[in-house]
Parts: sequence; structure tokens; C-alpha cells
Amino acid sequence: VIILVVNTGSSSLKYTVFKGESLQAAGLIEKIGSGQAVYSRVHLQAPKQSEPVSAANHREAITLMLNKIVAEGVVGSVSDIQAVGHRVVHGGPLYKHSVRVDAAVLQNRLGRALAPLHAVNYDGMEACMQVLPGIPHVAVFDTAFHQTMPEYAATYAIPYALTEKYQIRKYGFHGTSHKYVSQRAAMLLGRDPRQCRFITLHLGNGSSIAAVDRGQCVDTSMGMTPLAGVVMGTRAGDLDPAILPFLMQHESWDAAKLEEVLNKQSGILGLSGISNDMRDILKQAGEGHARAKLAVSVFVYSIVKYIGAYWTVMGGIDALIFTAGIGEKSPAIRAAICQQLHGMGVRLHAASNQKTISTEKVISTVFSRCKVFVVPTNEELMIAKETLAVVNG
Ligand code: AMP
Repeated sequence: VIILVVNTGSSSLKYTVFKGESLQAAGLIEKIGSGQAVYSRVHLQAPKQSEPVSAANHREAITLMLNKIVAEGVVGSVSDIQAVGHRVVHGGPLYKHSVRVDAAVLQNRLGRALAPLHAVNYDGMEACMQVLPGIPHVAVFDTAFHQTMPEYAATYAIPYALTEKYQIRKYGFHGTSHKYVSQRAAMLLGRDPRQCRFITLHLGNGSSIAAVDRGQCVDTSMGMTPLAGVVMGTRAGDLDPAILPFLMQHESWDAAKLEEVLNKQSGILGLSGISNDMRDILKQAGEGHARAKLAVSVFVYSIVKYIGAYWTVMGGIDALIFTAGIGEKSPAIRAAICQQLHGMGVRLHAASNQKTISTEKVISTVFSRCKVFVVPTNEELMIAKETLAVVNG
């Protein structure tokens, strides 16, 4: 079965083609609608190859993607594609699972309204269905895995009428990744996910942490939007809500400006004044740059506190799982986090941690109270698997 996985951003479109669970090809179109669109084929072991293309809108980009897939021999013809899986960031309160896309999904008013920056996911699905009618399209929501959170974990203490009026609550994101790595870790342990308690650490440019209790998410660090939780590349994460009206008043900012500062100019970038990229920050911190060192410390501390909280929530854990760019590739950050968990009995195997970059591996010693895993995430594969599961009923 050939499955196409599509991820639509505001000016980009990423695709991955799977035959069953085997990756066939991946690529992306960037700068859609700018008059300077670029198509790149992504290769696992070689640099990506790019070329200028014409893509005035997402619909044109989708047609271009299909032409490329055929021209590159990934599929014999477009009719070989049997289903399409779409990444959708915000499913709103309605969707607890991946679903086949129909008019109701496309019109998901709450999903669109709660994440206006990602409403383009819905427009992308609609355009793709127009270009590829007659085959099943499946929406895989970043929020779905977190829908099992108990009400007390997902509810904010604001006037309840507002909670109801706007469906303001914790939704959580990166759900596809948290689900994938928790399932993989259970496999590595040789156990059923329903017998395991995990804390999953998705640490990338956006970061989130989830408490996964016997296969179900019971809490997660992101909130109604992906701005909450731990410190991120450019996002502030948790802060005292009173800082917001304070800044609006004293800097004469409107809501849009505040949103921009907290989403794009804060986090590691705002703290360090250097970069949002952890590689740059670690290098500068190593050379003694005071604010780079501060950025690393604040980042690590914010993560350690969530681990402590979720450890308590679940009454103990079987494993900590590191994933995404920083989690998969930074032994230094993994060591800094686990160092602060020494009192909880976590023992990292220093050599194993150092050697493990983007591979599935246990990096704790036999004396550790819980196992520590590195599991590279694979959201595209998970979307393909979910798509297949929905199509097969
Ligand atoms: P992601 O959002 O999962 O693609 O992760 C991207 C982030 O991973 C980048 O912004 C970097 O900060 C981080 N990253 C990638 N490689 C490394 C590395 N070798 N060491 C530390 N951080 C890294």
C-alpha cells in the first residue's frame, strides 16, 4: 500500500511517501506564494537537492509535488497512491483519534479558531482532496493522543463560563511523536505499552513533555497552544500570567505584538541573545558566554521540574525517553538533565550517552532506578500507520 503523508505549513508543504512502513521518498516545497518557491528532494544520507519552481498557492504546490513524485519514479503514476495522511496541529476538543477527512473535519471551527497559525493545515487538506479525489484522506491530529488527560489535568482555573464558551483547556501537542516513542520504548522493553509508565521528552526547536501512563497520556506540558510548558527555541514556555498585562501596559504592546514576542523572540533566543539553535548555545556556553550558560540552565531546569512533577503524578516510572533534535542529538543536554535526577536514582551510562546520536538505545546503567532511552521520533511513519489503520477500519 502506498501512502502519501502531507504536512502543510503557512508557506510550505512537506511530503513523505511510504510503501507499507518503508520510506520511499521525502521532499518539501518552501516559500509558496512568494514568487520564489523552491522544491527540495530530501535524501537521508546526502544533502538535499533544491531547484526554483512555480507554486503560487498550496493547490499548485500539491500538483507540483505529485508531478515530482511521478517524474522521480517514486510511484509509476498518481493513481498508485492509495491514501493520504495529513498532519493537523490542532484538532480542538472533538477529535480523540485520527479520522477520515469529511466536510465536518474540514469545517472544524474550533480546531481552526484555537490555532489560527495552523488553520492552514485544514486548507491544505481541502486543496489536497480536490487534487486527489476518490482516495481516502486521513487527518492525524497532534492533539489527539493527549485527549485522554483527566479533566483535572486539562482544566485551567479561570471562570468556568469562559472555559465553556471558548473551550479553553489544555490540549497538548506533538502527540504523534509522544505516542510513537512511547510505543517504541515499550517494544524495546519487550512489554505491552499498557504495562509501562513513561515520561517522554520531545526536545526540539519546540519542546514538550508528556506523562504516559499505561499507554495513555495523563498530562503534558504544552497547553491550549504550543506556547506553554518548558523553555523552547524561541517560545517562552510557562510564565507568570501577570507579566503579560504588565508588558502590554509598560511597552504599549497590543495582543499581536505580545504574541510575537512570546512565540518568536523568547526562549533560548531571548535568554541568550545569540540564537535559538542549541548547538550554537552549547558552543558559546562552553566558551564561557554568561547568557548562553544561563539559557542552558533555565532550559534544563524547566525540564527537570516537569520530570519531577510527572514522576509524582504517575507514582514512579519505568523509563525516561529522549527524542527530537536536542533529545536525540545532544549528549550534553541529556547528561545535564539526568545529573539533576541523581537524587531520584537516575544513572546515565556516560559512554553510552556520549555515543548515542539519533539511534534507538538504552543510555542508563543497570543501577538506574528507571531506564533512560533515546528513541528518534518518526512522526511521518506514525501518520502513515494511523492512516492505514483508519483506512482498514
Ligand atoms: P527539531 O525541532 O526536532 O528538528 O530540533 C531542532 C533543534 O535540535 C535545533 O534547533 C537544534 O537546537 C537542536 N539540535 C540539532 N542537532 C543538535 C546537536 N547535535 N546538539 C544540540 N542540539 C542539536
